[in-house]
Amino acid sequence: MAAHTDVLVDVDEVLAPDAKQAINAARTFRDAHITPFADGIELRRETAISTLRLASQYGLLGLQVATTHGGGGLSAVATARVYEEIAEGCLPHAFSLEVHNNIASLVSRHATRAQQDRWLPRLLSGDAVAAFCLTEPSVGSDAAAIQCAADHSENDWVLNGEKAWVTNAAGADLFAVWAQTDVAAGWRGIAAFLVEREAKGLTVTDPYQLMGGHAMGTAGILLRDCRVRADGLISPPGEAFKVAMQGITSARIFVSAQCCGILKAGLERAISYASERKAFGRPVGSFQGLQWELVNVATQREAARLLAYRAAAAADKNLSATVEAAQAKKLQPPQRLAAW
Ligand SMILES: Cc1cc2nc3c(=O)[nH]c(=O)nc-3n(C[C@H](O)[C@H](O)[C@H](O)COP(=O)(O)OP(=O)(O)OC[C@H]3O[C@@H](n4cnc5c(N)ncnc54)[C@H](O)[C@@H]3O)c2cc1C
Repeated sequence: MAAHTDVLVDVDEVLAPDAKQAINAARTFRDAHITPFADGIELRRETAISTLRLASQYGLLGLQVATTHGGGGLSAVATARVYEEIAEGCLPHAFSLEVHNNIASLVSRHATRAQQDRWLPRLLSGDAVAAFCLTEPSVGSDAAAIQCAADHSENDWVLNGEKAWVTNAAGADLFAVWAQTDVAAGWRGIAAFLVEREAKGLTVTDPYQLMGGHAMGTAGILLRDCRVRADGLISPPGEAFKVAMQGITSARIFVSAQCCGILKAGLERAISYASERKAFGRPVGSFQGLQWELVNVATQREAARLLAYRAAAAADKNLSATVEAAQAKKLQPPQRLAAW
């Protein structure tokens, strides 16, 4: 625990100048392109893919991609701060950006040189938007049990199956698809592939109609005899499942930070409304009963934020942050709901 305390006092204080610059860019991007439009996008059930592409102009695509590959080279702590700022305007926008950036990092860390040359410039410029496809209609938490099949055929792989809950699917150009090459091998048989939207045999379903979060463009994808060239393999059997789990740990950390961002916005809105709204001749915020509610949420947010950045700091130290990330995410959702 002592090793992580440096980020617990004031996260921004320990960040390098390039990280602070990225956080400022995130605020500028949010205020110009997200906050003013987020409610309308949700009401009209639109996606935020075009906004996501614009993020490249603010240097927000490829946040953790190595600087040698043209990315931001940011730490997990700095990246979490960027997402926290963006989520203050709209959490689904932040999540959509996060999924794209996670795939860009995957390409930067695990792809072949040819794949990097082909995809990184497009992913960093916003010309291509990426999606992460692990979950299936009948398999979620138990990800080692995925049924989407990858069969080797001459120089190609042939994918057959269905993926569900694919964030960004509505407009994504590139899908990172996890599929099983050898059922008997269990998680060790799972490999990951880069599949283009135009690939024959890949179909994107209509976007899901949800209670909220339509900006994420979440949909399913169907793979029917979808041929992927051998060089579309991005992570081989034995590695790909671990890569997916690492990605999920990162995602948990970043979602935790995003929840802190939206909670801050919710609290500010609630406090402002409680000061305006009057009952019995007084602002309702002057009643102690309501003050307690707000104080509880504010205190819980501080606690949640500590857990989120503790997990990010653990990831930056290359420690296994699995437990820290899970604890951080576990604390978040009820607190986020409490603000609304
Ligand atoms: C908005 C949104 C966006 C998403 N985006 C993506 C994406 O981009 N890519 C992607 O691949 N997936 C995505 N997902 C899917 C997400 O990762 C899954 O929802 C998650 O893995 C849980 O799977 P499930 O919904 O099938 O629930 P299940 O695994 O079926 O779980 C059902 C219930 O059982 C409980 N449960 C399961 N296992 C255990 C256990 N071992 N112990 C105790 N309780 C357990 C769960 O907590 C849950 O309450 C997204 C989901 C949502 C809601």
